[in-house]
This record gives sequence, C-alpha cells and structure tokens, in this order.
Amino acid sequence: MSVLLTGATIVTSLHPPTVVKGDVHVSGGRVVAVGGGVNEAGGAQRIECDGCLVVPGNVCAHTHAYSALARGMLYDLPPPTSFVEILQRVWWRLDRALDLASIRASGLVAAREALLAGTTTLVDHHASPNAIVGSLDVLAEAFEEVGIRSVLCYEVTDRDGPERADAGVEENRTFLRRVAEGRWPLARGMVGAHASFTLSDATLAACVALAHDSRVGIHVHLAEDQADQADAEARFGQRATNRLASAGALTDASLVAHAVHLVPAEAEMLRASGVTIAHNPRSNMNNAVGRAPLGWLGPRLALGTDGIGADMFEESRVAYLRLREEGLDALEGWPLTPLAEGSAFAGRLFGEPGLGRIEVGAPADLAVLDYAAPTPMTDASLISHWIFGLSAASVRDVLVGGEVVVRDRRLTRLDHGELVLEAREESRRLWGRLDRIGPHEFSPTRLLATAGGE
Ligand SMILES: [Zn+2]
Repeated sequence: MSVLLTGATIVTSLHPPTVVKGDVHVSGGRVVAVGGGVNEAGGAQRIECDGCLVVPGNVCAHTHAYSALARGMLYDLPPPTSFVEILQRVWWRLDRALDLASIRASGLVAAREALLAGTTTLVDHHASPNAIVGSLDVLAEAFEEVGIRSVLCYEVTDRDGPERADAGVEENRTFLRRVAEGRWPLARGMVGAHASFTLSDATLAACVALAHDSRVGIHVHLAEDQADQADAEARFGQRATNRLASAGALTDASLVAHAVHLVPAEAEMLRASGVTIAHNPRSNMNNAVGRAPLGWLGPRLALGTDGIGADMFEESRVAYLRLREEGLDALEGWPLTPLAEGSAFAGRLFGEPGLGRIEVGAPADLAVLDYAAPTPMTDASLISHWIFGLSAASVRDVLVGGEVVVRDRRLTRLDHGELVLEAREESRRLWGRLDRIGPHEFSPTRLLATAGGE
C-alpha cells in the first residue's frame, strides 16, 4: 500500500523541533520521501493535506486499557481517603470483575480513542486476576483489529495470592513467546509487575528471571505513593528503588511508572540504570499522590496517561502547565522532549530507531491534524503551537505502519458505531459484576508475615 500526503506542514521531529513544508510519501509501511519535490509514479492513495499539520504519531508510555470501561462507573462505598484506599475500593475491584469479553471490549475502545487522538502506540500494563490466562492475547488481538501499535504485559502481583502471582508470570511468558513467533506484527511484550508494595521477593525474582531470559525489560509502578516507600522500608529496610535495583529489575530496557516519592539518591540510581520513567501528571493529580521530581529524573522521561484515555496532546499540555505552576524555569524542550522519549522507548522495542520521526526509512506512524496555524509555524514556534493550539479534536487521519487506520475521523478497519455500542453493553455487564465485589483486603503491611516480619 502506498499513500501520498500532499501539501502539508510536516513536523518531522519533536526533538529537536523540526518543521518542513511539502509531501509525505509512504510505501511498504515506511516513509520513503518527505518534503518538497516528492515524485510519486502514481497508484498511491492521495490524501490532500493543504492547511493541515502532519505530526509523528504519539506514544502513550503507560496506560491500563482495562480502565476504558470504568468511565462513569457507580461508586457507593465511603469516599477513599488515601491512594491505597483508591486501589482497594476502585481499581482492585474493577480488575477482579474483568473477564475476557470485557478485556476485549476495553481494548477495542482504548485503541479507538487513542487512534482518534493521534496516539499510534499504547504501552499497556494489564491486570485481570480472574481472567489471567489468554488475557494478553485478547488485548493484542483487539489492538491489532483496530490497527494500533502496542507494548503489552501482565501486571504480576502477590495481592491476589501465590497462584495468581505464578499465573501472571506464566501469562507474560506465553505472550512473549507468541510475540517472538511474530503472531502480532504490531505488538511487543515486556514483563509486567505491579509495584514493590504488592510483590514478594520470590515473585519479583521470577519476573526478573523471565525478563532476563526473554531479553526484555520490566514494566512496574514505582513510588507512586508514599505507601510504596513505607512498605519497602518496613519489609526490606530499604527504599523501593533500591529494592527493585538490587533485584535486577532496573535495566535500560525497563520502564517505571510515576517515580513520585524519591530521595535524590534514588533518582540518581534511576538515571544511572538507563531505565525509562513514565510520568503521568493527570493521574497523579487525580489521585493526590504528589508531584514527581522531574528535574532530577534525567533525559529518559516519557509521558503516560495511567489509563485516563490516551490523548497525549492533553497529557503533554497538563504536564507542561503543572511544571510551570511550580516555577517559570520549565525544563528545556517541554513537553516535546518527553513525547519524543516515549517514541524512542517504543522504537527500541520494535527495533525501529526512526519511530516518532517523519523521515525516510522511519515506520509511517503519523497523524494529520486539521490545524490552520494562525501564526507562522516554524521550528522555534512549534512548542507554543503544541501547548496553546493543537488538540486531539483536530486529528483527521492517522497512519500506523503505513496503513490508513483513521480517515476523516473514522476508524477504517472496524465499524465505528458498532464498537461503541458493544462497549456500552459490555460495561453494563462489567459494572454488574463489580457491584458484587467488595473492597480488596490487601494492604501494604499484609506481606510482612511472608517476608519474615520485622
Ligand atoms: Zn499505572
């Protein structure tokens, strides 16, 4: 399939910001020509892009697609007063209510919303303790059906008992094997782990061993709330980062989400390890867990939504404004540098260093925005347009791996309306099951006994 985008303003790179005028020719899944004077012999699908901005597809570096069906869910328990209570009363009830049908529906909806927002890669962290086996296959199939690129893992944890912890490790193992066999061209795998405070040493070691054998990284939450640190200190006499590092979980292929509650030595350890950190500002604000020390975290800092959709225009704008609220010396290149870093992370998993750029040879993952810039669009002004002008609502067309997967704001691979109606039906069933599930009884101190006590 060959596609020619004509007459566009093209953002070829977010870091450094680079804007050119002209055409983009896509063939065999890749960008084969970009800029002025593109010659195309004919036969390509032509997409007129006059007055449009073409940008690299965004990467959401940390999300939970299963939360797609949580929007508007009824909540009739006492209001949570802490982060751990939010988990016990909301997310750890939702994940136990998931079955394979609702995982599929949530995957379709999450992928649909992501593509319509110009996000072409989702890095997902999945949990469904009562439907572990095959859950990643279902999610990969759903993402593939819609046509989005993804990096998947199963969130291993001890909070639902040792059998489910083992099953989680096995689900990662099976999925990684199938990915290696090339079953889903658009999917890659990691080894998922929940967070230090719900992991025993043995389970954490099993995750690290699998990641090592599979030559992939660990995807884990770190220090999202102070509870993670309090638990690591109580059970292991060390900070959560030190615990993950000494277990071998922090490599340059790994991904940690949040990293809010750190001391400087932990930030230094993260930087030295080469791990990528996914910052999720909207989620952190929504959960009142605090602010990540962004200035300490080094260059391998990407952006995620933690399940609040996949609109990276919105997430990056909030990230920027939240940072500015702290002081006027915002980090250089923000918010484009962390978006570029998310692409670089995904690019390493796919063996595609060009991912996140619109340059010859790069995979053609891009979005066409119907954005008539009211002021000049240049390398220097791109950041300002990004923060104060661009929006997911302007996304018109989207290509992933060279295929047009959104055209005129509609999915091309699936029936748009049907997908949403099915999701609504599935969420009613999911909410019905969730209604019968009480707050999770696990709390950070619960694993003390198995750790030998202190
Ligand atoms: Zn998360």
